[in-house]
Amino acid sequence: MISLQGVKKVFQTRNGKVTAVDDIDLSINQGEIFGIIGYSGAGKSTLIRMLNGLETPTSGVVDVAGRDLGKVRGRQLREARQEISMIFQHFNLLWSRTVKENIAFPLEIAGVNREERNKRVAELVKLVGLEGREDSYPAQLSGGQKQRVGIARALANNPKVLLCDEATSALDPQTTDSILELLVDINKRLKLTIVLITHEMHVIRKICHRVAVMEAGRIVEQGNVLDVFRKPQQPITKRFVKQVTEPEETQETIEHLLAEFPQGRVIQLTFVGASAEQPIITNLIRKFAIDVNILQGKISQTQNGAYGTLFVHLDGEESEVDKALAYIREQQVELEVMT
Ligand code: ADP
Repeated sequence: MISLQGVKKVFQTRNGKVTAVDDIDLSINQGEIFGIIGYSGAGKSTLIRMLNGLETPTSGVVDVAGRDLGKVRGRQLREARQEISMIFQHFNLLWSRTVKENIAFPLEIAGVNREERNKRVAELVKLVGLEGREDSYPAQLSGGQKQRVGIARALANNPKVLLCDEATSALDPQTTDSILELLVDINKRLKLTIVLITHEMHVIRKICHRVAVMEAGRIVEQGNVLDVFRKPQQPITKRFVKQVTEPEETQETIEHLLAEFPQGRVIQLTFVGASAEQPIITNLIRKFAIDVNILQGKISQTQNGAYGTLFVHLDGEESEVDKALAYIREQQVELEVMT
């Protein structure tokens, strides 16, 4: 659905040239939720603007839904852009128009007649869960509701690609989750290709199938989200993964646990897998003659499987505990033995 080859974007500024995007190759499949993560200044916005035809590459090919966006002009570019929609951090709604009118706006521009417009708007309102708010103005809505309007408007013309530019960065964690769930739902129902840029790894973890990590205009690492979580290669990727896998107050937790469980061993394991703590913990209990207690931890079930960090207490014959530790190491989980 999207293919970038050797894409470069250089801006000419008063202080010289700035290379915002530097020789990027990327391909995104139809129906995929693809995340691009990077810190501020990495080149994410420039990249997503090129995917939307808002910015032309200095060199390279930006192919979206079969069209080379760097080459098409005028009517062809407008047609190409009809297949690509975008939602934004600050929603970009029309403040003097109601929910209904905001959603209908792209249909009006496309020349859809009133009757069809109304029908389509009603469908979209239902799809994003805004029934009953059709006649509200954006200022009367919560952040999450505003983003739902943004999503409905973006879907009005049946795009093939939805671009999300830090779409949840202005929302609280709970609202973020509900918007991300809506995006997953839309991805499944409409088989829509979604590309999102973010600086937050939990967003990637929750909904993306694959991820690319950007640093200084380049993609330094990419792969399936689970693989990247399991074995991050680059230092920057490791930092992003740590954002979501490191439990808070680790030091205090460890000290407390060590004092409370002087016998046996306390371990910390960070895992990424197909399902919750299964089968690691279950297998420990089944295979070894030891007591296994989960002392503390957090497991998150996501679109791609589960991940979490657990503090576990193993108690029993020393040799059995050693065998259990060897077994855990084989499971490709990160293991730290505290005592
Ligand atoms: P991100 O979205 O990851 O924060 P950007 O794509 O906004 O990164 O910016 C990447 C680099 O390109 C930055 O150094 C930024 O200052 C520069 N840049 C972005 N847009 C322009 C522009 N229109 N003119 C000059 N420099 C720009």
